[in-house]
Amino acid sequence: MKKQLSLLSKLQSFDRRVDTMYKTGLPGSDNSRKMTKKQRLLADEREDLIHGISEPLLRTYERMRGSNVRSNPVVPVINGACQGCYMVVTKSVIMELRRGGNLVLCEHCGRILFLNDAQTI
Ligand SMILES: [Zn+2]
Repeated sequence: MKKQLSLLSKLQSFDRRVDTMYKTGLPGSDNSRKMTKKQRLLADEREDLIHGISEPLLRTYERMRGSNVRSNPVVPVINGACQGCYMVVTKSVIMELRRGGNLVLCEHCGRILFLNDAQTI
């Protein structure tokens, strides 16, 4: 599960990077061929990341990307608080995260939560 989540947060930063790239504007038409090639490369890279992520986790992630939390569906818990909505999560959520067996969602905003090893709670 831990590996899955680290892949998922990688996928998230990847997607965010791509989103930003598109938002900052596409290059002019003379570059369009280059861009297509780049898009293909990006798609391949994403494919690689997705490979290591389990189906249900990926589905949850994709679903959330389509909703209002699209910019960061995967967030760490720091000092006992979800870093998506900054609400404090319950002890049982923390325990569940420590156990690391299941996908844990924030009870307030529904984002996918993970714990960083370095963090103290
Ligand atoms: Zn939250």
